[in-house]
Amino acid sequence: MWSYQHKAFTVYQIPALADNYLYLIEAGDALACVDPAEAAPIIKACDELNRPLTHILNTHHHWDHTGGNLELKERFNCTIIGAAHDAARIPGIDQKIGEGDVLKLDQVNVTVLDIPGHTSGHIAYVLKDDAGDALFCGDTLFGAGCGRLFEGTPEQMWHSLKKLMQLDERSRFYCAHEYTLNNLEFCFNKVSQSSDIKKYIDWSFTRIKDGKPTIPGTLKREIRCNPMLLPANGEFRRDYAASHEIADDAVSVFTHIREARNNW
Ligand code: ZN
Ligand code: FE
Repeated sequence: MWSYQHKAFTVYQIPALADNYLYLIEAGDALACVDPAEAAPIIKACDELNRPLTHILNTHHHWDHTGGNLELKERFNCTIIGAAHDAARIPGIDQKIGEGDVLKLDQVNVTVLDIPGHTSGHIAYVLKDDAGDALFCGDTLFGAGCGRLFEGTPEQMWHSLKKLMQLDERSRFYCAHEYTLNNLEFCFNKVSQSSDIKKYIDWSFTRIKDGKPTIPGTLKREIRCNPMLLPANGEFRRDYAASHEIADDAVSVFTHIREARNNW
């Protein structure tokens, strides 16, 4: 378990399954879990912190994000929060939320964003903090990548990614999988070999070699390096479109890169 100090809250990161990250957010009297794939590691972490779980925040319905919901609710009687759009698929949901809703974890404001694309009801949670916001983005934005489009169109996903790019670039993003090195390998071979990307590869390689996560990272680095966000950069977009002989609008370029990643 790793921990990250923000000013008003602490985030604990717990590895689970093959490559998932589960998170606990400790804010005053609140202890919230984001996307419990399974209950056991969360129960163990609550024991270590010596406090009960008060909330579950789900980003989307996939089993590797909600699998622990019912067992944790039974044990802690915690409140389960998830997307109103997808309430029928969130086990044990108590509170249904969507774009623009603001929750409170003790004194901390949590803003909800609708970011469909990976699933039709995917949401993100943004925790406001003087020392840098925290973004919990589930399977939408990854280190150097984005989620597969299981239930959404490229237009939807691009719109969702643009919404995340508009957040404070100092924000740290806490996504649900450790995919960074694979994504960077794809990026280096198929999309860009910029010096920023080489630096990101060296850093990630060292982190993984030392048994450490590459997540959380900053939005700032993703905006510069993430191949799924690069279509927002006009110069990159025109070069990429010209060399692949496709239209040079952002959605066309994003769609092409996403499909190349699917076939990688
Ligand atoms: Zn998923
Ligand atoms: Fe997942």
